[in-house]
Amino acid sequence: MQLAFFHPSSFILHPFMKCEILSIGTELTTGQNLDTNSQWLSLRLAEIGIPVQWHTTIADDLDDNIAAFRVATQRAQLVLATGGLGPTLDDLTREVVAKVAGVELVFDEPSFEHIQQLFAKRKRPMPDRNRVQAYLPAGAEVIPNPFGTAPGFCIAIPAACGLAGGSAKPQAAIVFAMPGVPSEMFAMYNEQVKPRLLKLGLGGGVQMQRKINTFGSGESHIEEKLFDLTRRGFVPEVGITASDATISLRIFARAPSLLEAQAQIAPVETTIRERLGKFVFGVDDEELQHAVLRLLDDKRKTLATAESITAGLVAHRLAQVPGASAWLRGGIVAYDNRIKHELLGVPQELLDIHGAVSAPVAEAMAVGCRERLKTDLAVSTTGIAGPSGGTPEKPVGHVYVGLAWNGGVTSMPFSWAGTRVEVQSRTAKMALNAVRLKLLEMT
Ligand code: ATP
Ligand code: MG
Repeated sequence: MQLAFFHPSSFILHPFMKCEILSIGTELTTGQNLDTNSQWLSLRLAEIGIPVQWHTTIADDLDDNIAAFRVATQRAQLVLATGGLGPTLDDLTREVVAKVAGVELVFDEPSFEHIQQLFAKRKRPMPDRNRVQAYLPAGAEVIPNPFGTAPGFCIAIPAACGLAGGSAKPQAAIVFAMPGVPSEMFAMYNEQVKPRLLKLGLGGGVQMQRKINTFGSGESHIEEKLFDLTRRGFVPEVGITASDATISLRIFARAPSLLEAQAQIAPVETTIRERLGKFVFGVDDEELQHAVLRLLDDKRKTLATAESITAGLVAHRLAQVPGASAWLRGGIVAYDNRIKHELLGVPQELLDIHGAVSAPVAEAMAVGCRERLKTDLAVSTTGIAGPSGGTPEKPVGHVYVGLAWNGGVTSMPFSWAGTRVEVQSRTAKMALNAVRLKLLEMT
């Protein structure tokens, strides 16, 4: 195969070239199966500094595939395709790529021998249909598939073959076609495709990501405080994502080396921490429970939970962290008012006058829990998870978190939007965050 016109020097104007992943299969577009190949490939490409701009999923249809390959080879310099290499009539990738490249399909004897051998080894006759798998676009380099019949291939597509009428692109695109079966694709990428990408000098930098996790402030407030960092074109890229009331800043750096990527990220992380202060509780995969346990350990404080609306979720999340048993003493799930009264000692008058979902009851739950479980801190939750049970004064999603410590007690109200499970999860986070903020103040 001639890759001469695809020399790395053609990327000088594109220090960070663009890559597109095409996933082919009607089982993917119908939603029957999830396209996990794109996710896996994007992660692998990031490891070698190749950013992916597009994921495209296409049904097993000839015209739609031709259109998708034309668009991809026009806008990206590197196109990785998976699927459509099987022996059946709906496996179109060979034909599609030949059409887009403007070449014929040619019979590849070694590939045919490999297919025959595979059937011989399995002691099964080779169906005639499998012969099509040995037809590949002229000029393509065959990529052997030790784990399946379908060989992959790699072909350079000249710029002129891209989207008709589109703006002329100085570079060609290189297309890698791999099987759709994930295990076959993994092996082919690792053993055959990745070394070729490195040899071609594609990528060659690193991408690095740092997530700064915050809780307690709204997305728009955070955006306001960081508007200069999140604007388009800022280097490194800073994005905001919200997941179940946790708001994260994702700092994304691309640089020639790891050190340079780190140097891009470090000052931005410092600025974010300075501006957001106590809202920041952790980085990357850290959750609130990790932050709480780290602080309990630092300050040598013990904790117990008294949970109504969250029914043990706060204790459960804390218990997921290794070493929790050193500081988490236990918890009481006090769902019913009788349990709040009998096990936590919440005075019956408070329940009668204010109702279970109230600041006085949240505080009495925390105080009672702390006394009975003999801990430094106790946190409580009470609220209306929904979907029914709301009133005009206390609508669904209305919750209180109570917190008791040696010499004090407080409570905080909040109204969450969301489903029952979301309200419970967010209230658990709110409780963990209340403990975290209190511990930050303690000596
Ligand atoms: P091949 O090119 O390997 O012959 P194919 O498209 O002809 O692939 P199919 O029979 O359509 O083969 O798919 C084989 C299996 O691989 C199926 O279980 C399919 O769901 C799975 N698969 C195909 N593409 C993907 C993808 N992008 N992500 C996850 N699984 C996939
Ligand atoms: Mg398929």
